[in-house]
Amino acid sequence: MPSAPPASEHLVRHVHKFGGSSLADATRILSLPPLVADGAASTLVVVSAMHGTTNALVAMADEAVAKGDWRAAWQALRARHLDAAAAIAADNAALHDALVADFDALREDLEALTAGDAGDARIARVHGLGEIASSRLVQAALGDGWARLDARDVLVVHPGEMGVGVEWEASRTKLAAWRATHPPQRIVATGFIARGRDGNDTTLGRNGSDYSAAILAHLFDADELTIWTDVDGVLSADPRLVPDATVLPTMSYAEAWELAYFGAKVLHPQTMAPVQARGIPLRIRNTLDPSVPGTWILPENPEGDAELSPVKGLTIVRDMAVLELVGNGMVGVPGTAEKLFAALHGAGVSVTMISQGSSEHSICCVVRASQVEPARAAVEQAFADAFADGRTQAVEVTPDIAVLAAVGDGMVGFPGVAARLFGALAQARVNIRAIAQGASERNISVAIAETDATRALRAAHSAFWLSPQTVSVGMIGPGNVGRTLLAQLAAVLPGLRSRSQVDLRLRAIANSKRMALDHFAIEPGDAIARLHPEGGEPLDLDAFAAHVRAGHIPHALIIDCSASDATAQKYPGWIAAGIHVVTPNKHAGSGAWTRYSALREAQRHSGAKFGYEATVGAGLPVILTLRNLIDTGDTLHAVDGMLSGTLAWLFNSYDGSRPFSELVREARGLGYTEPDPRDDLSGLDVARKLVILAREAGLQLSLEDVDVESLVPEALQDVGVEEFLARLDELDAPMDARLREAQSKGLGLRHLARLTRDGKATVGVVALPAEHACRHTRLTDNLVQFTTDRYASNPLVVQGPGAGPDVTAAGVFGDVLAIANALGSSEGRYA
Ligand code: ASP
Ligand code: MG
Repeated sequence: MPSAPPASEHLVRHVHKFGGSSLADATRILSLPPLVADGAASTLVVVSAMHGTTNALVAMADEAVAKGDWRAAWQALRARHLDAAAAIAADNAALHDALVADFDALREDLEALTAGDAGDARIARVHGLGEIASSRLVQAALGDGWARLDARDVLVVHPGEMGVGVEWEASRTKLAAWRATHPPQRIVATGFIARGRDGNDTTLGRNGSDYSAAILAHLFDADELTIWTDVDGVLSADPRLVPDATVLPTMSYAEAWELAYFGAKVLHPQTMAPVQARGIPLRIRNTLDPSVPGTWILPENPEGDAELSPVKGLTIVRDMAVLELVGNGMVGVPGTAEKLFAALHGAGVSVTMISQGSSEHSICCVVRASQVEPARAAVEQAFADAFADGRTQAVEVTPDIAVLAAVGDGMVGFPGVAARLFGALAQARVNIRAIAQGASERNISVAIAETDATRALRAAHSAFWLSPQTVSVGMIGPGNVGRTLLAQLAAVLPGLRSRSQVDLRLRAIANSKRMALDHFAIEPGDAIARLHPEGGEPLDLDAFAAHVRAGHIPHALIIDCSASDATAQKYPGWIAAGIHVVTPNKHAGSGAWTRYSALREAQRHSGAKFGYEATVGAGLPVILTLRNLIDTGDTLHAVDGMLSGTLAWLFNSYDGSRPFSELVREARGLGYTEPDPRDDLSGLDVARKLVILAREAGLQLSLEDVDVESLVPEALQDVGVEEFLARLDELDAPMDARLREAQSKGLGLRHLARLTRDGKATVGVVALPAEHACRHTRLTDNLVQFTTDRYASNPLVVQGPGAGPDVTAAGVFGDVLAIANALGSSEGRYA
């Protein structure tokens, strides 16, 4: 049998505090019990008033003092509480009676106020009634065994310069006395209310119940304080300004202080003090979603925390102005700064930021816009003498300033944080007016134009929270290849994100008619559904590109899986705007030379990449191989290629045992040809690929320059598909003759694209000897043979399946990854 714990053993005590919105109605109150049942041996629940109650009470008190009519409001508030009581515990008569008595007392106080019998204590008692009433409702909801603590019985406070201060000794004594008569380990306590030294009712000030919880956690020597609200935790930035703001898993007391000081709604700095004094961990959690871990505020950040991000939070303070004192006579003169700040102090102006260049030519500080004129007057007066004899020249004021502050313990001794911040601001074209970094290194503040505030905040946020390889991706044309690519993305992206730094976010999807845009990310698996039926909005390629090129994400990329020339027309503009483009679409690479050179020109200026490996040989590394040969200084003599899977299959199979037309029919049945086989037989598609290769090799070649032999006889070129298919055997006699002739010389037929060093480009059927690489292909294999200086007698061959959605999509994906990798590292194909 385990022995009983010694009496002195520490009892684990947790404090939970619930705000008004968590107590909005009976349903919300009834959902509290499981939230506080966290296994602690001892539990203290601190409650605020039901949502809106304190506001209503404050209004009633004001109304009463003004001798107005508060009765209807009193009635409504009373009814609301009695209704909640009935819903929580219908047969709890004691609860009902206690609430009736509370509201009777409230009415008496309001009547006294109306009769002119005011006084701070009475007003405080009115303001604080909400907590009395809500603590009864919560006690009833929690069930048997819960004691109720009216905090006025223990908390003694006094007004202080920075708000209300606690009389710790007096409070501790009173708590001990209360404990002597209230042994339970489970207690519901009122927030917000307390007593003064004189024993009169008072409050801790608006929103004071967080402070109450912190004080009680301190007095009870708690092990943990949880503040329940209706947000997921403390965010890295204001989510209304930065939609990508993330919940911070942990932060230190110091960080919470700094952020609260700069206006982030963490906790009032005063709230931190009592828990900080005892090192009590504080946790922010969401009543609406208790499964979310929330934010831990701890004495120190856990080890390794700074590696996640050296900056914890970003805030913006608006409505500021820069005030600058300029003068040559200040250089090396001691006391100038002192005089300046004494003048500002005298005028009651609070200074948010100070910066002085070491030349001492000017001192600059940031003050609230509303205080800048009194500040200017005070400084001008203080320096009147210096102005008169020219030692100081001017007090310059720049209005419409915002201060952006980056806060984080991890900045301490972490080089490069400022560089990253300033780099991000520069990239977003934000001009910095003044900079200050505290010696604690926990805060960097910059003064910027108010109009730049949101853009600056987003840019800074992405610099610290998005991986440097976060790419905003838009995809056009989810046909066969597009769909397959989406499936590949769905399978690979999650792993990729955790394994490497690459974070590809599909944020836009379009087909030929419609597009769907998403601020965050579209799951690749859901992308098609976003467009059907009639999902999204009508396609506008410019709006699509603008969305993809979002200001807050470091990189943008468009994947064009359409076969549209109109889309290709957009590439030069996109690339000029810094959007990378990846495509299996052959139009840009093989279309008008002027457009092609505009695209290359745009690339040189913007640095954006153009990936088109999949345009030739699908996923086979054809372009890559050619590029490497040229880049390493090899000289190209010739390229011979079987660049059509369809034609490859036809000639691989054509040995004279079956007529050519029969093979065409079979290929069509197998889905190897386009619906109209003439699209393949014409050789045009192959010619396009050859143009792409020729241009890659540095030749100014266009489609007109390629000598293309069409396998479609003149007479069949303009007839309908049905008629063409019906007359297919007209192909047989001429083809048969060519085959016989070749065979008589020991040769075999292949469909080949050829490019020679002097720029001669041909596409058509040729007879090749048995030892030629193209005679050793299978099925729909593509094959490209490069003859170069280095690969002269034995050419370099790239061979393998070169058609089909799987391998084509993989070719596109490969380009996407190569670009993404190159963005954040010095490795990878495009680095
Ligand atoms: N009920 C009080 C107020 O509204 C205290 C609090 O909710 O924190 O100010
Ligand atoms: Mg390829």
